[in-house]
Amino acid sequence: MPDLETVIGLEVHAQMNTKSKMFCGCDNDAFGKPPNTTVCPICMGHPGTLPAPNEEAIKKAMKASLAIGCKIQEENHFDRKHYFYPDLPPGFQISQYDFPLSTKGEVKFNISDDSGNKVGDVRVCGITRLHMENDAGKLTHRGEKTLCDYNRAGTPLVEIVTEPDLRSPEEAVAFAQELRRILIAVNSSEADMFKGMMRFDASVSLREKGSKKLNPRSEIKNLNSFKSLERALTYEIKRLGKKWEEEGGPLKNDITVGWVDDDEQTKMLRDKETAMDYRYFPEPDIPPLRFTKKDIEKLKAEMPALPSELKLKYEEMGLEDFEVRMLIDQPYFRIIFDKVAEETKDVKRSRSIVLTQLAGFIKSDDGKEKPDEDFVTEQIIALIADERITKNQEKEYLKDIVDGMTVEQIVKDKGVRDVDESEMEELIEKAIEANPQAVESFKAGKEQAIGAIVGWVMKESGGQADPARVNEMLKKKL
Ligand code: ADP
Ligand code: MG
Ligand code: ZN
Repeated sequence: MPDLETVIGLEVHAQMNTKSKMFCGCDNDAFGKPPNTTVCPICMGHPGTLPAPNEEAIKKAMKASLAIGCKIQEENHFDRKHYFYPDLPPGFQISQYDFPLSTKGEVKFNISDDSGNKVGDVRVCGITRLHMENDAGKLTHRGEKTLCDYNRAGTPLVEIVTEPDLRSPEEAVAFAQELRRILIAVNSSEADMFKGMMRFDASVSLREKGSKKLNPRSEIKNLNSFKSLERALTYEIKRLGKKWEEEGGPLKNDITVGWVDDDEQTKMLRDKETAMDYRYFPEPDIPPLRFTKKDIEKLKAEMPALPSELKLKYEEMGLEDFEVRMLIDQPYFRIIFDKVAEETKDVKRSRSIVLTQLAGFIKSDDGKEKPDEDFVTEQIIALIADERITKNQEKEYLKDIVDGMTVEQIVKDKGVRDVDESEMEELIEKAIEANPQAVESFKAGKEQAIGAIVGWVMKESGGQADPARVNEMLKKKL
């Protein structure tokens, strides 16, 4: 048995988060809406209707192209891709075949461990192409019956095809996760995995180590989570390895398989379909798309910061891998952190309050409504600026802010709990009086004797005084 190498390439489908569908005015957000209520004669493919491309979708696809380093083709067009299946009422999908929107990009990514720390060097995966198309409807099989919901039919998709550059299931997942971050960063897709907004077809083959040859592949269709992507690939690689051992070589021809989550195994669907099977031809109802260099330059100028750029910025600020990851993946915390750090110029405190404490109160994936980020930002800045608020109180105050209170209100409500200037003066006078021995020792040069006096003030204030501030005031006084 020779040493074998795994070769993986992905086709990624991501739903674009536009207001309306790809070729009609129907609502593109069908989430939670009754089946077949966001449909019209165009997305249902009725004869005599005409598709009109969605400008917003095209812009989002162009931004996604630029973000993955692809070159936008100044001239490209839509094609009809035919297949006959009940999820596709017109009998063809409007896609792009030989002149896709963009080509030849690359995405750099890292593999991380569970706590978000980088493992190993930066990897690169080439991108073959990105094109636009419309999604199909959704079928639900119930015993003998099949239910059809066409709300999703016509949703704009970008399809991103990679080069066969990935070498393990782990790399495939890390790449897919980076791609997800990028699509979210440029606001092309919400890429919500739970809502099926991002799906993968994974092609995999084996070859002898050192060989550059591409052997026939097995294409695993329609994986809709990172977990199933990883498991399906792991399973299929093992299966192909065993087959190689038994038959002395790779697959004889390309095949298409499905992943059955419940059985944890792949299932043969068919020999792979070829372009011929789809009878592609240029979509006669939509003129070719033409972009000028100026259009593309304008879009480039509008591009938001990409995950790779954010990563550099936060690494330079001295943040840990897991903090960087959190800021990239969770724009809610990023918006707050950026403003707080900029306003207070105190990165250390901003990290501790926003990335540790606040993140403890607000979970980004629990589906609950989060408090308004401008409000939270403003209040955290006020919290840091208010010197009367001690470290001890900070966390409790933060909880109240999350619950919608302003720092001003909290201080007013919990007034007893904060030690104001005159109260503090008084406490310090008293402390000096009550601890003559410690005062004596301190004056004689025994620095640590001050600890006893600080402790007295803390106790007297019911733990509310800020020890650092007490220390400082005492030293001044003595
Ligand atoms: P199709 O739509 O017919 O599946 P595409 O060219 O769109 O064809 O996609 C092919 C995908 O399969 C790409 O991601 C490519 O990198 C990958 N691929 C091609 N050949 C191999 C191979 N021998 N082993 C693994 N992956 C492959
Ligand atoms: Mg394919
Ligand atoms: Zn419609």
